[in-house]
Formats: sequence, C-alpha cells, structure tokens
Amino acid sequence: MISHTSLQWQSSDWQSILQTAIRDSAELLQAVGVPQSSLDTITGETAGFAVLAPRPFVARMEYGNPKDPLLLQVLALQEEIAPTAVGTTDPLEEQRFTPVPGIIHKYFGRVLLMTAGTCAVNCRYCFRRHNDYAQNILTPARLNEALTYLRSQTDITEVILSGGDPLLTSDRKLSELVAELEAIPHIQRLRIHTRLPIVIPQRITTELCQRLGQSRFQVTMVVHCNHPKELDVEVGLAMAQLKAQGITLLNQTVLLKNINNCAATLETLSVELFKIGVLPYYLHTLDPVQGAAHFAQPMGDSKQLHQTLQARLPGYLVPKLVSEIPGGASKTLIY
Ligand SMILES: *Cc1c(COP(=O)(O)O)cnc(C)c1O
Ligand code: SF4
Repeated sequence: MISHTSLQWQSSDWQSILQTAIRDSAELLQAVGVPQSSLDTITGETAGFAVLAPRPFVARMEYGNPKDPLLLQVLALQEEIAPTAVGTTDPLEEQRFTPVPGIIHKYFGRVLLMTAGTCAVNCRYCFRRHNDYAQNILTPARLNEALTYLRSQTDITEVILSGGDPLLTSDRKLSELVAELEAIPHIQRLRIHTRLPIVIPQRITTELCQRLGQSRFQVTMVVHCNHPKELDVEVGLAMAQLKAQGITLLNQTVLLKNINNCAATLETLSVELFKIGVLPYYLHTLDPVQGAAHFAQPMGDSKQLHQTLQARLPGYLVPKLVSEIPGGASKTLIY
C-alpha cells in the first residue's frame, strides 16, 4: 500500500509531489489504514484550518496506528473545536511588530521576511493557523517596500526567510530575492526557516543548493522536525547536499503532548539529526494558540524533560528550551 503511493511521487519534482498531498481527514485515515471509528476527526474546514499532508510525510506514518506521532500532528481532531479549547488567535502579537507588510521586526539585528503565504504541511499546533496567509504574500510591490525598509535599517545584519514556508517559492524567485538582499551591504547572514526539507525532501534541489552555496552570505537553514520518525534516507540525502555547500543546519522542535513529550524520543531525535549533520537549536514550548490546547503540557513537566535531556546528552545535542513571550527582546530561556 505505502510502496504503491510512494511510486507515484518518487520520480516527480517537488511541485508535483505537493499537488498530490492529502487534504482531507477521512482520506488521510484511509491512506494509513486507521479506521474512522478509532479517532474523533473533523474536516479542516470545520476547524478553519485545512488539512494538508504531503505524501512523503504520510509514507513515514505507521500503517494502522491511530496514535502515530506523525499522523496526530496533521490530522484535524474534534478537540480543536471543543468548548474547552482556549487560546488566542495571535499569541505572539506579531501584528504590533510589522513595520511594513511582510516584515516582522521584533528582535535586534534580525528580521523575519514572510516569503511565502502558505506551507507544504499544515501542522495542527501551528501558531500561525489563524493568520490570514493571503495578507503575507510577497507581491512585487510589497517586496519593494520590504527591501526599502531593510535598506533603511542599517543595524539589520540577518534576514530570516519565513512564512508560511519560504521554500514554497520557486528556485528562480528565491535566487532573485537572495540577489536583492545581497545588494544590501549591512546584511551579513541569511537564514531560512523551513519544514519543507522534512516533509518533502525532494525540495532540496541541486539548483537551490548551488545558489545558496554561491551566496556572499553565511547561510543557515533551520528545519523543523519534531520526531525521529520524520527522518528517512531522503531527508538525510537532502541534508548532505546542503552540507556540501557549507550551509549550517539547525533544527527546531515544538514540544507536543502525546507526540514527543518523552525524553527517550527527544534524545533519539537529537542523535539522529546529528548523524545527518543537523544540530538541535530550539525546543519550543507550545504557544497558547486556539485549537491546539490538546498538545499542551504543564511547564513543570517540560522543564523536567529538558533536565533529563541535559543529563543524558552531550551539551551540543541539547536544544534550548524556550518560550516566546510577547514583548520580549528574544525568546525566553526556560530552566
Ligand atoms: C524566533 C524569531 C527570530 C529569531 O530569533 P533567534 O533567537 O535569532 O533564532 C526573529 N524574529 C522573530 C519575530 C522571531 O520570532
Ligand atoms: S510548517 Fe511551520 S508555519 Fe507551516 S503549519 Fe507547520 S509549524 Fe506552521
């Protein structure tokens, strides 16, 4: 079954693979052989956030397991709309830090440039699930405005491509964008925050790697992987290609109840990431976003988990446990 679906995407380019993504809870359950009766699902529309699960990611789910940690990150459950579902729709108050559309300038020296309005996967815990993604599309007019802002703020030394997922942008457009940024002398570093290399590793094309390798910037890619089962041979190959171009590879993880809130899982994740050249960066506590309360765990448990990791792993394989507190000058370290 799984091998049948995998044949459909293995020979294709990443855009074609994305087109075959699963966009419906019932279809997703069927694809992984989990009976409808074993989980209380809703449609993405009911939750106001579409279901979107690309095939290479679905293929790593365990067939027939309703508790699969990959499945539960992308399947829309009744709990999202339960009357007890608490949280806000803009937990990070990003609107306050948007000097021009498409830019979030919250911290000293670095800005987010919202490069694409959508993602290749819809993670149910996402703090951007309530954003009007269309607002963030980088039209040529908005790009000009954003570039004008970046030129005027001479203390900005790092630009972080974010979104949505910036790697949904084509190689040609990304190359043009990087060239525009390279023309701004005070920018030294380029960072790309993306989940695409994990969910569709075919996105890491030779062309993309070469362009980033040729850049005058020090380039860092921060991928987003929550569970060791999200890693497979294809992801490893993608990372090797980036590494060969001298790109620094980091990972961020969101701490999620019933997905990865277990020391052994997180320990394995760090070890497996390091095998493919990726260092752990941040372990984020869940933002209090509406519809994701079922992924939350008490802060005390998170601290304890982090202490266990620290006791078991070399220091460089322990991600920093952080929260985002609105108004803070950086992410807040949790001890
Ligand atoms: C997380 C974040 C950054 C990057 O912070 P680092 O600590 O440098 O990784 C920048 N801007 C915003 C708005 C962020 O949320
Ligand atoms: S890839 Fe990132 S931004 Fe996109 S839905 Fe998932 S967590 Fe949110």
